[in-house]
Amino acid sequence: MTSNKLFFVTKPSSGSRTSFAFGTGVVTLIVLCLPIWIAAAAGGPRPLQIYFVDVEGGQSTLFVAPGGQSLLIDTGWAGNNSRDAGRIVAAAKSAGISRIDYVLLTHYHADHSGGVPELAAKIPIGAFIDHGPNREQSTATEQVFEDYEKVLADKGIQRITAKPGDVLPITGFHAVVVSADGVVLDGPLAGAGATNPACNTPEKLPADPSENQRSLGTVITYKKLRILDLGDLTWDKEMKLMCPVNKIGRVDIFVVSHHGSATSDSDALVDAISARVAIMDNGAIKGAYPDTWLRVRNAPGLEDLWQLHTAEQQAGDPQVHNVPDQFIANLSGPDTGNYIKVLAWSDGHFDVVNSRTGTTKQYPVR
Ligand SMILES: [Zn+2]
Repeated sequence: MTSNKLFFVTKPSSGSRTSFAFGTGVVTLIVLCLPIWIAAAAGGPRPLQIYFVDVEGGQSTLFVAPGGQSLLIDTGWAGNNSRDAGRIVAAAKSAGISRIDYVLLTHYHADHSGGVPELAAKIPIGAFIDHGPNREQSTATEQVFEDYEKVLADKGIQRITAKPGDVLPITGFHAVVVSADGVVLDGPLAGAGATNPACNTPEKLPADPSENQRSLGTVITYKKLRILDLGDLTWDKEMKLMCPVNKIGRVDIFVVSHHGSATSDSDALVDAISARVAIMDNGAIKGAYPDTWLRVRNAPGLEDLWQLHTAEQQAGDPQVHNVPDQFIANLSGPDTGNYIKVLAWSDGHFDVVNSRTGTTKQYPVR
């Protein structure tokens, strides 16, 4: 199905990172907030806001409920003068919050949890949610976990370890855990459980021994909108989650797993969830693997794929795939740190905003 293809331009393309990331461009912020302000001025409901922060090939996704409750999934990298923590705090300010209620760490790789100490130094955090202890024996990952434990101890922040089937304590929207520490849901979520035909011819990939397969995955529901985020969950765990029956059901928005890497986003996953919109948190030279890009883009029911970066051709890639520029937050060239934002409205329609262009695409109720 093809949705409404109308884009309305709310801001000329300028591409200045500073104006977006830190809000010094008042005009920019006004136009990006326009749909919310119009609704508020009309006495209408406010949306759930979801910021897909650009952390250059890591993950950091901020959910802010209409009542201000917040959940951050992953913190991006450490370093670069606290670049990723700075971008997250800028998104939080733009969303109107000055603390983050819950920070969920999908797993302890540096592109997801490396930024914990820098973020905790910049903004108050209510509690952390994780899959349990690190079990990967690599110096880098052990260091990330050690730094995380130090933040918990030094700041006295509550730690919640979640398992499949747990409902997160956040209010304002519903979040249920579907994978954690290498275990997936026992049975289907409500409304799911159909036999998955894409399981019949699955390409087999070997079990992944890394932290990726322990990713803490969630299904987040706000009104009629369902969003799936599995972190970097890898192929063999996707099979356990999706075969022989689809335990997730259909979703509206799919946060593409593992940045679109070769070892995730199997047909059994992407075909069965039948997402309307997929958002890929790839970097210029991270993720967006050509075969994976094709599986995601060609999944049945997908209306649009959005990318955080233009994918550059990497050594060994026979070709590279990209969506049209209006669906990409950061084009090739200097690092501009633009985000993608989703506004989920109570009637079930949602908007996707590209902060680089200031354009919004509306997705009517299905
Ligand atoms: Zn990753």
